[in-house]
Amino acid sequence: MTTLSLTGVGKSFGRVEVLRDVSLTVPAGTRTAVVGASGSGKSTLLRLIAGFERADAGTIALGPATLADAGRFVPAHRRGIGYVAQDGALFPHLTVEQNVRFGLPRRLRSSARVREVMELASLDAALAGRYPHQLSGGQQQRVALARALAPQPSVVLLDEPFSALDTGLREQTRQAVIDALEASGVTTVLVTHDHDEALSFGGQIAVIAAGRLVQSGSPAAVFDNPASTEIAAFLGAAI
Ligand code: ADP
Ligand code: MG
Repeated sequence: MTTLSLTGVGKSFGRVEVLRDVSLTVPAGTRTAVVGASGSGKSTLLRLIAGFERADAGTIALGPATLADAGRFVPAHRRGIGYVAQDGALFPHLTVEQNVRFGLPRRLRSSARVREVMELASLDAALAGRYPHQLSGGQQQRVALARALAPQPSVVLLDEPFSALDTGLREQTRQAVIDALEASGVTTVLVTHDHDEALSFGGQIAVIAAGRLVQSGSPAAVFDNPASTEIAAFLGAAI
């Protein structure tokens, strides 16, 4: 468990400024949902935290360790950060067990660890030998979460992990994921365009619009006291 902090983070692609002066603190062991419209910069933000892209400005730190700033860039595989993509991004030619074991450090590369994280993600052990195409979308997302948690990361990032799921499956999968995150105590950032999802994720929420973090706080505080009419309209809150 470690606190994740971003200070003054900025990112442009060519001449297009995608993120500007983003500062965000996710205290150790807590969850934050970043909510914003499509194209507001949510995925880019997660990619900077994960180390898949390099910020142009600002600092990203995990506890006392700087992951990225003007002079330093810790590569993705050395950050201790787990990542779950929108479609799960499982290896199609590997079984569930092989997906979860993939890339694990030797001390954790055991069937016992695979079973442990599968159980954490509410996955029946009988699914271990199946291939991704033999699973439902919700099961695939839970395998992706199990794979992300298996190396005992200090932070997990979730990029719209439920958006491809049908409504019924979405609710059930979301609860299983929240339960697993709760049980593992990992510091978590979820990004979503769905305000109901953000408000019910069980942590603080941060609203992003056109690459800027415009408000953050508890769901009640943001919903009851939106900082602008745009935020109110986006959240469906009264003003
Ligand atoms: P969101 O996840 O909120 O939908 P993204 O972070 O994916 O938003 O994208 C934010 C903006 O940055 C969009 O305008 C998108 O086209 C642009 N963008 C994202 N990645 C790249 C890239 N690799 N090159 C150029 N533009 C990009
Ligand atoms: Mg996105």
